[in-house]
Amino acid sequence: AVRVVWFRKDLRLQDHTALAQAVQDAEADDRVLLFYHIHPDLIDTFTVRHDYYFQTLQSFVSDCEDLKAPVHFLYGELEHAFQQLVNNESSIKGFYFNYDESGFGKKRDDQLVNWLHDKGINVYKSLDHHIHSAGEIEKKDGGYYKVFTPYFKQWQKLDKPLRRKVDHQKLKQHAADHQSSYKKGRNKYDSLMKQCQNDWDGIGEQAALERLDWFLDGAIYDYDHDRDFPAVDGTSLMSRYLRTGAISPRTIYHRVLEETAGKAGVKGADTFIQEIAWRDFYNMIFHYYPNAADEEMVEKYRELPWEYDEDILTCWKEGKTGFPLIDAAMRQLNTTGWMHNRLRMAVASFLTKDLLMDWRLGERYFSERLVDYDPASNIGGWQWAASTGTDPVPYFRVFNPTRQSERFDPHGRFIKEWVPELENVPKKYIHEPGKMSEEEQREAGCRIGEDYPDPLIDHKVMRKQAISMFKKEK
Ligand code: FAD
Repeated sequence: AVRVVWFRKDLRLQDHTALAQAVQDAEADDRVLLFYHIHPDLIDTFTVRHDYYFQTLQSFVSDCEDLKAPVHFLYGELEHAFQQLVNNESSIKGFYFNYDESGFGKKRDDQLVNWLHDKGINVYKSLDHHIHSAGEIEKKDGGYYKVFTPYFKQWQKLDKPLRRKVDHQKLKQHAADHQSSYKKGRNKYDSLMKQCQNDWDGIGEQAALERLDWFLDGAIYDYDHDRDFPAVDGTSLMSRYLRTGAISPRTIYHRVLEETAGKAGVKGADTFIQEIAWRDFYNMIFHYYPNAADEEMVEKYRELPWEYDEDILTCWKEGKTGFPLIDAAMRQLNTTGWMHNRLRMAVASFLTKDLLMDWRLGERYFSERLVDYDPASNIGGWQWAASTGTDPVPYFRVFNPTRQSERFDPHGRFIKEWVPELENVPKKYIHEPGKMSEEEQREAGCRIGEDYPDPLIDHKVMRKQAISMFKKEK
């Protein structure tokens, strides 16, 4: 008999609930079959994020090969693909996977669980993607929290799940060999791999663990302060690994505690754990607001008269707004597939409150560009910035893009890294290069309006318009 483990956004061999369980349950003659399902839609919508994800898959497949536990591939529409699995395996003793609690993943998983039940197959679905899952933290009246602070208080009180150790020795003994019946799926996998072209920094489980070591070795102690300064390499960069599942949030949580145990008042660690809890919070929110990708969570803001201008949107996307920090941020995103959190807040505020454009346009653009794209956190972040979500920034507290730049990139180091046109602009003008005189522009080798754009908008004017747009809806 066979115990099947289905991998999705949990591409790792350590601290993995479904895999640990399947291996633990395996009896003498049982085989453990690892597999991955490729949906045809994936091949048609291949973005930079898919490139990163599939290279992580490749790294995972290779780690599995090293362990002599090969991954098998299925290709096709969901039920059609799983029918092949059922046809290939005469006796499936258990079907193991880590369940998705929100979004598209939840719909797919629910559909599949019903289908497997109809076939009489035992399904073992685990909650593995978060420290605390969506339904775990409730208010006293049974409802769910809409504000982070009381949610977090509850979050902190609960016992934390332990790491789920996978017995690799036993996995090796029970692993199903390569089977020819999965050849078609394997061919699809090979062709997908050929589509991957980017040269990424940091792919897969080993890279995730190394980066975590690096972070715990020093940066975490300054995290509380450094995490606001995009020119400093001061954050964990765990989001891409959490997204692909190259690392488990439990591993991160316990490693942080072990590292800082006995050291009083490590503020960086406290703040960092709080950020990890934000990820759980937004997952919970998305679970309860499944329409949040399309609809404002705050009902009274569902008819806001957003503006639309294709050319201006393109300037924002390409980092050509004339606001140096905003432009540097968008170029970082376009080049690396990641953007610093401080900047995500700044560019999202800029799009919605300075350009008055619909947050959904930004949310979608991020979904195409971010390697760590996670619908729950991204929608949460965008609706936060647009003041339309749960626990959002108040609509009257509009970020000033120039002020943000002065505070969080005071020397313009980050700006100069990403906006080379401004390389020789003196510090005095780096946040507002348009203020340079003709002569200063000549000296800096940067003519405003030609080498670098004039500011697209006047922040003072737009701020007023944004506030009045929200006020009218009240
Ligand atoms: P660190 O500062 O090292 O934080 C550690 C971990 O905590 C992160 O990896 C992440 O898992 C979690 N975390 C930190 N901040 C947040 C937050 N505000 N919300 C939820 N989780 C958080 N994060 C994503 O993972 N995917 C997204 O698609 C995403 N889109 C965002 C869109 C906007 C408009 C905003 C404002 C934020 C978004 N975030 C998103 C949250 C945050 O910006 C990233 O998680 C963070 O920048 C990732 O870098 P890091 O791993 O170095 O973070």
